[in-house]
Amino acid sequence: MTCVGIDLGNLASKIGVARHRGIDILTNEVSNRATPSLVGFGLKQRSIGEAAKTQEVSNFKNTIGSLKRLIGRSASDPEITEVEQRFVNAKLVDVDGTVGVNVRYLGEPASFTATQLVGMYLAKLRDIASVEVKQSVSDVVIAVPGWYTDVQRRALIDAARIANLNPLRIINDTTAVALGWGITKTDLPEPDQPPRHVVFIDIGHSNYSVAVVAFSKGQLSVKSTAYDRHFGGRDIDYALVQHFAKEFKTKYKIEVNSNAKAIFRLSAQIERIKKILSANNDAILNVESIMNDIDASSKLNREQLEGLIAGLLERVTGPIERALADANLTPDQIDTVEIVGGSTRIPAIRQRIQSVFSDRVISTTLNQDEAIARGATFACAMLSPVFRVREFAFHDISPYSVVISWDPSQDPTGDSERALEVFPRGNAIPSTKILSFARTGAFDLEAVYSDPKSLPGAINPFIAKVHVKNIDAAPIGADGYATVKVRTRLNPHGLLSFEGVYAEEVIEEEQPQQEQPMEVDGQNGEAPAPAPPKKRKVIKKDLPFIAGTTSLDSSILEKYTEQEGKMHAADKLVMETEDRKNALEEYVYDTRSKLEDRYAPFVQPQEKEKILAALQDAEDWLYTEEGEEAVKSAYVAKLDGLRALGDPIMNRWKSSEERPKAAAQLRETI
Ligand code: ATP
Ligand code: MG
Repeated sequence: MTCVGIDLGNLASKIGVARHRGIDILTNEVSNRATPSLVGFGLKQRSIGEAAKTQEVSNFKNTIGSLKRLIGRSASDPEITEVEQRFVNAKLVDVDGTVGVNVRYLGEPASFTATQLVGMYLAKLRDIASVEVKQSVSDVVIAVPGWYTDVQRRALIDAARIANLNPLRIINDTTAVALGWGITKTDLPEPDQPPRHVVFIDIGHSNYSVAVVAFSKGQLSVKSTAYDRHFGGRDIDYALVQHFAKEFKTKYKIEVNSNAKAIFRLSAQIERIKKILSANNDAILNVESIMNDIDASSKLNREQLEGLIAGLLERVTGPIERALADANLTPDQIDTVEIVGGSTRIPAIRQRIQSVFSDRVISTTLNQDEAIARGATFACAMLSPVFRVREFAFHDISPYSVVISWDPSQDPTGDSERALEVFPRGNAIPSTKILSFARTGAFDLEAVYSDPKSLPGAINPFIAKVHVKNIDAAPIGADGYATVKVRTRLNPHGLLSFEGVYAEEVIEEEQPQQEQPMEVDGQNGEAPAPAPPKKRKVIKKDLPFIAGTTSLDSSILEKYTEQEGKMHAADKLVMETEDRKNALEEYVYDTRSKLEDRYAPFVQPQEKEKILAALQDAEDWLYTEEGEEAVKSAYVAKLDGLRALGDPIMNRWKSSEERPKAAAQLRETI
C-alpha cells in the first residue's frame, strides 16, 4: 500500500510519497519535481502535464490550465467569466451544469467539465506516482486552498474518484505546511505551557493564504486563516503584460491584447524576467515573433517592476494583519514566520511581509516549493495503518459560517425560529453537533453558508439538505411531539455531512432483585431490603432519511469514470503503438550498422543479403501511409519477423563474446 500527497498547484503540482525512511517528492517522466497543471486534447491522444506544456502553443485552444480555479464553479459566475477566463485558452462554457470547456479531441468537438479535467490530470499524477513506486496508487491526500467551499471540495473528491483514486483526506494547503513543520520538531512546548505560534504564508501562482497556528507537543491548532484569492504570480505577470502591451502598441504598432497567443508568448517571457528580477536588478525581455512576425524586445529593472505592481504590493500586508487580529495575537507574540510558494521569492513581497513583523527573521527553513506536498503526504501516512508516523494531531478551522434552516410550517411547536448557526466561522474541523427538533411528521433541513458575500465569486451558498421521511418510530413525548436528533458533522475534508437521524427513547427497567449480603453487625439482619433502583436506559432508534449534496450523482460519476478509463486506455495504446513503431525503426538502423561491424564475422553472405532486404522492406513500409499509421500489432509483427532473421546472428556473436569470458573465469578459478 502506498501513500501519496498531492499539492494541486495552479501552475504545477507536486507529488510526495511516504517511504519507510521518510517522504520523497517524486520526479515525473522528464525528471521534474513539479508537473505542469495542464490538460491538452489532440488529434490522436490527450497530453497531460509535461506533454501538454510542450504542445501548449501549437495546440493553444485545446490546452487547459487553471484547473483548480475552475473545479466546482459555475460557468455563469462573473468571477469565472471575467477573471478566470483571462487565464484559460479555451472558451469556458457550461457543461452538465458546471463550468467546462469545448475542445477538439480526436478531430471531433468534445466537451468536458472542470471536474473531468481535474480527474484526467489526477490520473496523470497517479500514473507518475505508480511508475515511481512500482505499484498501483490509490490512497491520496490532496491539498487545496483553505477557502475552498463544500462544493469545490466535493467536486475535487469526485475528480479523484474519476481518476480511480481514494481521497483519504482533503487538507488545507497551509495546514499541510504546518503539519510538515510541526511533525519534525522535537522541542515543542508541553501542553500545559503556552503554545508556540507560527505564521505560515503561501503565495503561489494564483493564490495567497495565511494561517496562524499554535503548536504544542504532539499537536497543532489552526487559530486563524486569511486569504487573498486573487493574488499570485499570474497577477504580477498580468500587470506586466498590460505594461508591455501598451509599450508595444506605440513601439511596434501591435495590439497584443487582441491576440491570445501573443499574450501567451509575452507572458512566458515575462515570467522569465520576473524571476530574473528576484535576483538581479535588470532584465532583458525578448519575445520572438510575438505577432505579425515581429520580434519584440524591451527591458525592465527591479524598481520599474515594483512600480508596476505597486497595487498588488500594497495588498501583501492585509491578509497577515487580518489573520493576526482574528487570532488575537500581535506580531511580537509570533515565534516564527515561515514563507512558502514561488512568489514569496520576490524581494518586494518579502519586504512587505517583513514590515508586519518588524525585526523578526522571516524563516525559509521549509522547502518553498514542496512543503505542501510533504505535509499532505505526512497526513496520508498518518491515516495509513502501514506507516508508523509520530502521533501528531491537527485541528483545523472552517472559514465560513454554516447555518441550518427549516420550514417553520413543519414545526408543530409554533416557534418562529427558522434557522440556526450550527458551525460559526472559525469552528473546529472535524466537529460534530447533534441538533434536536420537536416534530410530528416528515421534515426537511437545509445547510447553507450564511454569508454568501464571503464565498468565492458567486458560488451558490447551498451545501446540503436532508429529508427525514417519517418519524413513526420516534416516541411521542408528553407535549405531543417526537424529539428527533440530527447528527451533523463538519468532517475532516471540511465538508458538511448529515450523518444520522434518530430518536431517543428512555426506558426504565426494573433491576433484578439482588441477594442482600448478610449484615454481620446488624441487630438481627431482618431489616426490609430497599426497593431496587430502576435503571434508565436510552435506546437510539435510527430514522430513515435522504441526504442531498452537491457531489455527482453516482450514475454520472460512473459515466465519467468509465469515460476516463476509455480515454486513458486509448492514450496508452497510442503511446505503446508509437513505442513499437520506434522500436521497429531503431531495430532496422541498429541491425544494419551491426551487420557491418560486430556481426560481420558471424554472418554468411546469403544470410546477410536476406536480412538486409528484409530491413529495407521494413524501412520502406514505415514510410508508406500504411506504415506511418499502422496499429500496434502490425509493428510488433514486423519486428518479430526481423528478429527471426537477426536473432540467430546476434546469438552467434553473443556466444563468441561469452566464450573467452568463460575461459578467463575458468583460468581464475583453477
Ligand atoms: P497556487 O498555489 O496559486 O495554486 P502554485 O502552487 O502552482 O500555485 P507556486 O509553485 O507556489 O504556485 O509558485 C509559482 C509562481 O511563483 C509562479 O507565478 C512563478 O512565476 C512564481 N515564481 C517562482 N519562482 C520565482 C522567482 N524566483 N521570482 C519570482 N516569482 C517566482
Ligand atoms: Mg501552491
